[in-house]
Amino acid sequence: MRYLSTRGNAPVLGFEETLLTGLADDGGLYLPESWPRFSPEDFRAMAGLDYPALAARVIAPYVEGWIETPELEAMAREAYAGFAHSAIVPLVQCGDNDWLLELFHGPTLAFKDLALQLLGRLFDRALERADRRITVVGATSGDTGSAAIAGLAGRERVDIVILYPHGRVSEVQRRQMTTVDAPNVRCVAVEGTFDDCQALLKSMFANRPFRERIGLAAVNSINWARVMAQAAYYVAAAVRLGAPDREIAFAIPSANFGAAFAGYVAHAMGLPIHRMVVATNANDILARFLESGQYRTTGVTPTLSPSMDIQVSSNFERLLFEVHDRDADATRGLMERLKQSGGFAVEGAPMAATRDLMVGYRSDDDAIRAEIARMARETGIVIDPHTACGSAAARRVGIDPAIPVVIHAQAHPAKFPDAVASAIGCRPAVPERLERVMQLPEHVTVLPNDLSAVQAFITSSQR
Ligand SMILES: *Cc1c(COP(=O)(O)O)cnc(C)c1O
Repeated sequence: MRYLSTRGNAPVLGFEETLLTGLADDGGLYLPESWPRFSPEDFRAMAGLDYPALAARVIAPYVEGWIETPELEAMAREAYAGFAHSAIVPLVQCGDNDWLLELFHGPTLAFKDLALQLLGRLFDRALERADRRITVVGATSGDTGSAAIAGLAGRERVDIVILYPHGRVSEVQRRQMTTVDAPNVRCVAVEGTFDDCQALLKSMFANRPFRERIGLAAVNSINWARVMAQAAYYVAAAVRLGAPDREIAFAIPSANFGAAFAGYVAHAMGLPIHRMVVATNANDILARFLESGQYRTTGVTPTLSPSMDIQVSSNFERLLFEVHDRDADATRGLMERLKQSGGFAVEGAPMAATRDLMVGYRSDDDAIRAEIARMARETGIVIDPHTACGSAAARRVGIDPAIPVVIHAQAHPAKFPDAVASAIGCRPAVPERLERVMQLPEHVTVLPNDLSAVQAFITSSQR
């Protein structure tokens, strides 16, 4: 498979380069040159597979020629061996025809583990073949940092440095990063905000000599390999509920649109998706867009679901490219307008194509609390505040009751104990793997919000 940029001015790459590149040279995002399609027979055959085998089938066309399917399956088996549930992504019924897809059984108790556990292994293979090393530097406000560390800790050819705002991440989130004791992992608490951390990262990417010297790489969800890995769990849930002989709806708590775009990918591969409910919190740029066709940035509001507190959705560019019939000029034009004037509008056929598949819905903090409480009262299931956005949205947008609705349970409720307690009056039970983290010693370096200090630290910690 070859990959091209959504903005049309970057070299076409193979899988390996796409994996190691992340963002395209022209500022665009990489997508496969064409969508592989599965037949109904192919999907039926997947219903009997366990999750690693199914994931390998879904991913195989994207890595064809780079890795053989049996080796890919072995890699997926290893990636998901540390999950706390044997089904990896179990489905739990939570209504007449509503299901929670539990995506939080990985090492850091959120769905990002599904992609990042595989990504670490893909990186190792690619770097070994290319005889290279990379330094992954990431800025995090919480979940991404811990999932990236868990996926990359101990990898031979990767060093990882995570920047987070000192004193501004929750204790659970901080400990999930700082208690990992591996020679290739460094946590840096920056004396500043999350935006300062992101600005530092951006400056490092702009510093070409530094970037090339350390082999700087990123692991945010613009990396195609993350999206590809996530498409697998849509297929897994759908075939268990009767696809391809029945349509399935999905509700996805969304921020950078990585998880939601993975649903688009599954759809493009032939999975009969009736509708995708794109759920947001008060940071509702996606919900407003799906309602009005206007994509316009506002400020970021802190909410009970912090992993969805974003201003723009970086993966949204991939959807724009698709619904404009892969017109790179049109996509580039929209992204330029976004940069210059903070927004753009989509109309006509592209908007109709978007609305055909997707519907948006926004939940503010009161609605999140009400949904956590309702779910606990009616089913006994405690959900986290992100999942609550998806669950509330699924109920409100009005889906045909004959269609099964799969709500993505994105994080374990114990990661957000205060939000849960504010809804149901008690804190969720803490799973064993989290309890351990609360006791282990922490490894962290506090640095000023200063580019040269951070770069010097990264250089000095190279192995
Ligand atoms: C990362 C994250 C999200 C947002 O996912 P995107 O792929 O960025 O849309 C939502 N909920 C939780 C718990 C997360 O960790």
